[in-house]
Amino acid sequence: MGYLEPAPLLDTENPFEAMMTRFREASQILGLEEEVYNVLKSPAKQVIVSLPITMDDGTIKVFEGYRVIHSTILGPSKGGIRFDPHVSLDEVKALAAWMTWKCAVVDIPYGGAKGGVTCNPRQMSAGEIERLVRSYTTSMIDIFGPDKDIPAPDMGTGPREMAWLMDEYSRTQGMTVNAVVTGKPTVLGGSLGRTEATGRGVMVSALAAMEKLKINPYNATCAVQGFGNVGSWASLLLAERGLKVVSVSDISGAYYNENGIEIDKAVKYRDANKGSLEGFTGAGKISGDELLVLPVDVLVPAAKEDVITHHNAAKIQAKLIVEGANGPTSSKADKIIFEKGISVVPDILANAGGVTVSYFEWVQNRLGYKWTADRVNRRSDRIMKDAFTNVYKTSVEYKVSMRIAAYMVAIDKVAKTYKYRGGY
Ligand code: NAD
Repeated sequence: MGYLEPAPLLDTENPFEAMMTRFREASQILGLEEEVYNVLKSPAKQVIVSLPITMDDGTIKVFEGYRVIHSTILGPSKGGIRFDPHVSLDEVKALAAWMTWKCAVVDIPYGGAKGGVTCNPRQMSAGEIERLVRSYTTSMIDIFGPDKDIPAPDMGTGPREMAWLMDEYSRTQGMTVNAVVTGKPTVLGGSLGRTEATGRGVMVSALAAMEKLKINPYNATCAVQGFGNVGSWASLLLAERGLKVVSVSDISGAYYNENGIEIDKAVKYRDANKGSLEGFTGAGKISGDELLVLPVDVLVPAAKEDVITHHNAAKIQAKLIVEGANGPTSSKADKIIFEKGISVVPDILANAGGVTVSYFEWVQNRLGYKWTADRVNRRSDRIMKDAFTNVYKTSVEYKVSMRIAAYMVAIDKVAKTYKYRGGY
């Protein structure tokens, strides 16, 4: 059986290719056989559907929809549905693989999947979106299922779309099947604690890492890029645990206050200001690029992919980076950051609190029972802490970054399960 050659250094900053570079590097350190690597690399199933929709003006428009099941080795596949003009099969394939590693690293019994429709929901009416969701669901009726493949929201979709998906799926089955999808409104079986789950996981993994680095949260400063769902909850919960959040940012720019920003005030301001921090007076304004290189203890990129690159990595002064966003750091930047001795809690671990509470939603739906927010939080905190400990131990044992260690933990789990289950 052949073994993997060292990972080629890709001259690219594309976050998905960067993910594949790390997957290969981790596989090589693990001594994974090339044949198993090839099994894990290739998506199990790729479905492309054509969705003709009658628009409000009476015309018929055809949309293309995708669902890629990367792996069902650990259990039913799990992953969001993206509605965006840039959705392509290649992107969906990469995101599906990402879900496999994320679920494996936090040890929840799911494989990875992702779906998408190439469309611009911002230019569509609610009725047009509803018809698109229902048509997509019907086309995927043989793919979806609470024991087979469980979708969730992603960019451009939310609880409203998940409610339509659940309803359409349930009609075809002749009964209510709420466990077929997560991210539903709470009245339809959505879980308490889901809204803050990702930011909460960022906080839990940040505190666990700070303990290892001997950073006292009460003396620590923090900067958070992005003030949407993940960034604002992470800011709020980190501030609650004693950190001084000196800078936050959104698309309107970055805000800095050396005495610490009052996060609850910033959240109220944003909510009353159409979701934007523009004009917030609780801090002075700096540039988004400056936020990333502030002399803080903890940096939380929680906006978008590819913001820490080989162009700015050398200037980063934080001791710890906790990746709330997916793919915020390029693979070239990884090397620079590792050599500088900065610790990174990688995305597939740091932001896995969201998929963990989605798993709890599915568990509650299958039990026909509802957990309190307290129970959800306690259980997700424990999963995040255990996953952190496991990844940290691996990074110390193999003398690798926590990113490579997280991939090693995930790949090892999926590969071992694959070998036990066997193939043809
Ligand atoms: P969101 O749309 O709620 O918020 C995004 C925030 O980033 C907004 O405040 C926006 O203004 C800001 N932003 C965009 N471009 C920026 C820029 N150039 N500089 C500074 N700020 C900028 O999105 P979200 O749900 O918070 O997701 C953020 C990231 O976390 C994404 O990478 C997403 O994939 C990832 N993620 C989210 C979840 C979840 O549960 N929401 C789970 C896992 C990963």
